[in-house]
Amino acid sequence: MSTTEPSPTLRTATFTCVRCGLTVSALDPDGRGRDHCPSCLSSRHTVDRVDGGASDCGGRMVPISIAVPRSGAWVLIHRCTRCDELAEAAVAADDNHLVLMRIAVRPLADPPFPLDLFGEV
Ligand SMILES: [Zn+2]
Ligand SMILES: [Zn+2]
Repeated sequence: MSTTEPSPTLRTATFTCVRCGLTVSALDPDGRGRDHCPSCLSSRHTVDRVDGGASDCGGRMVPISIAVPRSGAWVLIHRCTRCDELAEAAVAADDNHLVLMRIAVRPLADPPFPLDLFGEV
């Protein structure tokens, strides 16, 4: 929960998803700034995480993985389809649960080693 009140312009601001075209409010239900589409979880490369500040890339960022830091809250890992930069984004309360689960179980669905090994330990 954020204690700082978002500015009125940010509260009503929207952006259009670069992938599915959904009109997305710039704030999530908890009042935090949103950087990805809650429906398809795609994002746009507008922040330079390496050098800091704004990025002029503007490429589409696709969700490739879920990370779970010590805080326990899921973090979405995005990769830019244009410049390959990686970025992390906090998962919002209304992000598409089905898409999140699909990304989370993807490594388990196709492991690089046989899973039946676990039956022998
Ligand atoms: Zn979308
Ligand atoms: Zn990029």
